[in-house]
Amino acid sequence: MRMSRTFIPTLREDPAEAELVSHKLLLRAGYIRKLTAGIYIYLPLMQRVLAKISRIVREEMDKAGAFEITMPVLHPAELWQKTGRYNDLGPELMRLHDRHDRPMVLGGTHEEVVTELVKGELRSYRKLPLNLYQIQVKFRDEIRPRFGLMRGREFIMKDAYSFDFDEAGLDLSYQKMVDAYQAAFARCGLDTVMVESDTGAMGGKSAHEFMVIVDTEGGEATILSCPDCDYAANLERAESLPKEQPKSSSEAPRPRSAVDTPNAKTIEEVTDFLNVKANRLVKTLLYRSGDQLIAALIRGDRQINETKLAHAAGGPTVEMLDGPTVEKLTGAPVGFAGPVGLGREVTVIADEEVAVMVNFIVGANARDKHLVDVNLSDFRIDKTAVIRGAEPAERCPRCRKGRLVSRRGIEVGNTFKLGTKYSQALGATVTDDAGNERPIIMGSYGIGITRTAQAAVERFHDERGIIWPGPIAPADCHLVCANSDDAALARAADQVYESLTQAGLFVLYDDRVERAGVKFADADLIGIPWRVTVGAKGLAKGTWEIKRRDRDAAESAPFDQLVDRLKQEMWP
Ligand code: ATP
Ligand code: MG
Repeated sequence: MRMSRTFIPTLREDPAEAELVSHKLLLRAGYIRKLTAGIYIYLPLMQRVLAKISRIVREEMDKAGAFEITMPVLHPAELWQKTGRYNDLGPELMRLHDRHDRPMVLGGTHEEVVTELVKGELRSYRKLPLNLYQIQVKFRDEIRPRFGLMRGREFIMKDAYSFDFDEAGLDLSYQKMVDAYQAAFARCGLDTVMVESDTGAMGGKSAHEFMVIVDTEGGEATILSCPDCDYAANLERAESLPKEQPKSSSEAPRPRSAVDTPNAKTIEEVTDFLNVKANRLVKTLLYRSGDQLIAALIRGDRQINETKLAHAAGGPTVEMLDGPTVEKLTGAPVGFAGPVGLGREVTVIADEEVAVMVNFIVGANARDKHLVDVNLSDFRIDKTAVIRGAEPAERCPRCRKGRLVSRRGIEVGNTFKLGTKYSQALGATVTDDAGNERPIIMGSYGIGITRTAQAAVERFHDERGIIWPGPIAPADCHLVCANSDDAALARAADQVYESLTQAGLFVLYDDRVERAGVKFADADLIGIPWRVTVGAKGLAKGTWEIKRRDRDAAESAPFDQLVDRLKQEMWP
């Protein structure tokens, strides 16, 4: 690939549109361009990275016994109505109408379509297990598309779906996918941590996420893990051991009063406005569990753990109330709910930490108002339980020895045990030996191909540019002709290009008429693992300089050893 001919529009300056280092680098190094919010064009270098990741993922999926298919991107809305997700996914689901005014959907995931497919084709349980996958573009109208390819509105995903007759079969299919994911990410040169996660809107029983640990702002997910055992979970999911009873405050209770808090809906906005710490606030979160309405009270600096809340409420799950329902119930928009004056129809469940607080702040159940100096005598608590999420430094719930540490990660893949949510909704059943129809048990498994590419950049870079892991780098070697104006040198570099290419290496060849300094800066920015420089001094001696992108020192190699040296050092 000659740089004089291809399309690698590098930028000298940091683009204003990007906050995250990996996003800046991909724009600056000429890998991507934005078309509109959350929608990107992949330029030639990016195309090669994506092809390499896809190839590795495909090979691991094939090895695990999955079969590649391609499903349509455009779906009839009817299918999504049958599973209820036409409503449940809300505005994230991209919707449109065809010329006959029939509602259609742009797929953001394919449980509906794949279940509809097997429903018509699989009759006997003897055809199971089956695993079908595709690598394809997905559409989601994300509320906050950001960070370049990390959270796009259009992105590339590998999605796989397993079909089994029983739970034991699902466990096996699931484990195969977990193994395939670990192998695929390792082959991409990425260490991942597998964490327990919530099943969320997908439905189902058990789920895991595969995280690239970055400890930068790009790590949208917080992970709690134990240094002493293999426990790791994302923040929403992490369990905590019951604590010793927290101590009550010695402060004397004061009479409560109402204060104006215009537009202050979030904890951050309220604490900023009132100039207090978040642990002086009590958040009131409204849920439904079956036909029970619940107000969950937790300290402002804590996260709710919905699994624990559901447990305390005695239901299998809880579901947060939507804005209009909250408004009907409390008389105020979301953000101003509070426990004072809530009717008997709402069960108030307080975290154990709340049950000992004094003079705290809550929403006033009125627009733009909060109550300060609220005390436990001001409202009713129906039940006290641990409903907050785990925190760093807590003891590990698994081994009970280590203390949990918090890391930030980028979710590059996930696996779900779906169960029968989709097969039941769409009527995908198989017949057992006794002639009974049984819904197929499903699993669903995603890898964000485009997000993985950017996660690698977020994980591996320095102040000069990207440092690609070899297996997913857009080229094996970056060949620089130090002075392409010098005909003899250019000829020598052309020859090196030919022989490296013939030896099976993919070479990005900087044959542009540019200063050597500019070429070196671009090579560092683009981040190919090896750089070979053909310069005047070397030409006289018959040696070329070779340098690894992640090392400062360069070495020189006689021309006849160059190919072997590179091949030997190359990533597997
Ligand atoms: P998130 O919690 O980040 O929104 P998700 O739970 O919605 O992710 P899935 O629906 O399971 O993710 O999608 C599978 C994979 O696709 C994710 O692990 C991630 O790598 C990728 N992915 C999801 N949403 C996006 C997006 N908007 N842009 C790029 N990649 C995405
Ligand atoms: Mg999402």
